[in-house]
Amino acid sequence: MTEKLYYEDLYAREFDAEVINQSEHDGKFHVILNKTLFFPSGGGQPCDTGFIDGVEVLEVLERGGEIIHVLKNELANKNVHGVLNWEKRFEYMQQHLGEHIFAGMLFNLHQLHTARMRIEGDNVSIDINEAVNEDFIFEAEAVANEAVWKNIPVEVLYPGMEEVKALARKLPPEKSDQPIRIIKIEGVDYVPCCGVHVSSTGEVGLIKITSFENHKGGTRIYLKCGQAAYRWLSSLYSEVRKAESELVCGYEGINEKILNLKGQIKDLKANNEKTLEKFLRPLAENLIDNAKNKIVRHVMKDSTQDEVKHLFKLITEINHEVAALLSCENSDGVFIIFGTNKENKNTDVRPAFKKAVAILEGKGGGSSFSAQGWGKNSERLDEALNEAEKILLHEKNF
Ligand SMILES: [Zn+2]
Repeated sequence: MTEKLYYEDLYAREFDAEVINQSEHDGKFHVILNKTLFFPSGGGQPCDTGFIDGVEVLEVLERGGEIIHVLKNELANKNVHGVLNWEKRFEYMQQHLGEHIFAGMLFNLHQLHTARMRIEGDNVSIDINEAVNEDFIFEAEAVANEAVWKNIPVEVLYPGMEEVKALARKLPPEKSDQPIRIIKIEGVDYVPCCGVHVSSTGEVGLIKITSFENHKGGTRIYLKCGQAAYRWLSSLYSEVRKAESELVCGYEGINEKILNLKGQIKDLKANNEKTLEKFLRPLAENLIDNAKNKIVRHVMKDSTQDEVKHLFKLITEINHEVAALLSCENSDGVFIIFGTNKENKNTDVRPAFKKAVAILEGKGGGSSFSAQGWGKNSERLDEALNEAEKILLHEKNF
C-alpha cells in the first residue's frame, strides 16, 4: 500500500520518496513509490500532474491501495523527489469543495440527491436523478455562497457506520473494506468522499451556476468555483462591455435594446415585403398574361434570391395553372426556382429541375411543386431553361 501523503498534508507541494517498482507499458513507465502526494483520479476529481525527478507525470491511478504514477520516461534513481502541478491541484480542491457545498445545500433545502459529480477543466457538473425546479437551483447557489463567506472549517472524520448512516446525505459503496472517510462542513454537509479539498469554505471564493439542462429525465447542473468562476465572470464581462459599447447603454439596458432592435427588424422586413410586392406584382401579372403553354419563364438580372422567390410566390398565388421557371444571375452565380401553386397536383417540376441544375453544375432540391438551387455555370442558363421547358411541355399534363 502506498502511503497517501495527500491526505496528511493537503497543502504540501513537494515530497521525497523511494521507488518500489518501475515497469514499462506501451512506451510509458508505471512507477510505484513508497509514499506520494499525487492524488489519483477518483470520485469525479481528476488526478494530479507534475514531475518526479524532472520526469513528467502524465496520469495517476489507484489499484488495490497502490498508487501508480504513469511517467513519460524512466526514472534513473531509487530515491526521488516529486513536485505537484500546484495551481491545477489547488483549483481542483476549490472546485471539489464548492461542489460539496452546493450539493449539500440542494440536499438540505430540498432533499435532492446528487447521483454523480464530475470536474472537467473549469467545469463542475452534477447530476440529479429528477427534474429540479429552477428556483431551487438558484436558492441553493445563494445559500452555498453564504456558507463560503462564513469560512467554515472542513473536518475529515473516520466515524463508525452507525453514525454515517444517521448523518450522511449519501452512503459509501458497500464493498469497501477501507475506513469510511467523511468530509464534514458544520451546518452544510456530511458526506463520504475520497477526494482532496481546500480546508475551509472561504477558500472556494465563489460558487456560480453557469447552466443547467434536462439529462436523461433528471437534471444536470453546471457550476464554476473559485478561480474558474472568476475567469468565467471576467470573460462574460468582457463580452458584456462590447455589447454595452455597441448598444450605447449599461448592462441593465442590453435586453431592452435587443428587444427594440428585434421589433425594428420585424417592421423593416414587413415594409420590405410590401415594397417588393408593389414593384413585383405588375411584373408577375404581365408575365402570366404573356405565358406560352402555361409556362412562365423569366430571368431577373442583378436581382437577389429574395426578389426571385417573391416573384415566384406572386406568380403561383395569382395563377394556379401556370408553372414558373424563374432565375436570377448575380456575382454568386445563378439561382433557379421552378414550381407551381401547391394545389396543382398535376405537375411535378422535379425532372425539369434536375436536368437544369445538372446543366448548371449546381445543387438543390425540393418538392413536386417547388424546387430551388444554385449553379455556377451561368453561361449555360438559357440552355438549362430550354431543356427544363421541353421536359415540362413533354409532360403536357398541366
Ligand atoms: Zn469530495
